[in-house]
Amino acid sequence: MHLYVHVPFCARRCSYCDFAIAVRRNVPSAEFTGRVLAEWEAGQSAPWWSEVGPIETIYFGGGTPSQLDAAAIGQLLDGIRRRRPVAARAEITLEANPEDVTPALVAAWARAGVNRVSLGVQSFAPNVLEWMHRVHGPEQPARAVAALREGGIGNLSVDLIYAVPDTLGRDWRADFDRALALMPDHLSLYGLTVEARTPLGRWVDRGAAHPADESRAAQEYLEANARLRAAGFEHYEVSNAGRPGFHSRHNLAYWTRAPYLGLGPSAHSAVGTRRWWNVRDWSKYRVAEPGREVAGDEHLTPDQVRLEALYLGLRTRSGVAASMLPENLINQWIDAGWASRVGSQVGLTPDGWLRLDALVTQAAGA
Ligand code: SF4
Repeated sequence: MHLYVHVPFCARRCSYCDFAIAVRRNVPSAEFTGRVLAEWEAGQSAPWWSEVGPIETIYFGGGTPSQLDAAAIGQLLDGIRRRRPVAARAEITLEANPEDVTPALVAAWARAGVNRVSLGVQSFAPNVLEWMHRVHGPEQPARAVAALREGGIGNLSVDLIYAVPDTLGRDWRADFDRALALMPDHLSLYGLTVEARTPLGRWVDRGAAHPADESRAAQEYLEANARLRAAGFEHYEVSNAGRPGFHSRHNLAYWTRAPYLGLGPSAHSAVGTRRWWNVRDWSKYRVAEPGREVAGDEHLTPDQVRLEALYLGLRTRSGVAASMLPENLINQWIDAGWASRVGSQVGLTPDGWLRLDALVTQAAGA
């Protein structure tokens, strides 16, 4: 079993972000902690608990979990452990923004059991950070990493965004070098996408911003892949690379369709073929009766299960069983340099990952 806790609070909305967040100057940590634990308590009577094992990973995502006060993560983990066994070697991840990280906060997280931190760096270029509406400056990631390492966080991931507009003049290679110089154990790479109802979406609509073209996005992605491999990382999923032994166990649970429970506004859950998701907004979630946070649910049909297994499997380097794909399609992909076969598995290459959606559509219709 895997647990996700969505912490919706952010200091400011980033220009590209369409996540379920609540911008707050004063974060209501105690109210949030109490409300999430009420959802946790109410969910203890769910019949599916008998189908799942101990909790192997816990992930505090957001939003910005590092915006919560020092006591909150410990209180949440204590409440979780009071009700369900958490594996002794569980991976417990917290997403943090560089400007929030202080030695005192790191000490509180480590005491609570957090052993992995994912740091939202995105870029080191001052004009890019400003354009993204990020709160931190170019020097804060290094200070945050030093505090995290000194505080005993032995598993550190860094997020970077590639394919920002040409007009920003961003030097991708220089940004990438600075990220590697932080000596992270794991690196997540996200291509900038334009979502409606975001500041970036509005800038693009009125012609004030122009997304990078596909060829530059591909060039930056493939360059990152080559440099990660040269630096000893394994690019094990379309957006993720880790040193050996440092792949994200929590995310691997999603990609291998293991059961997971999401707590907090907008959190999604999956057990067997059942999927359900909570109300999106904190303002609605906070007043919902505990146990009645769910906004929708569905049971996957066998066709949907196959599609989900294809899409999630092809995201990973280990891919899917060759028996899930027609032989002529596999050969076509291999000839084009988009896939490779290892034993009975077929996985996409980085060139294949660049066209992941199209290849999944092709496979689903085959
Ligand atoms: S910090 Fe993360 S969740 Fe918050 S607005 Fe920025 S990208 Fe979105």
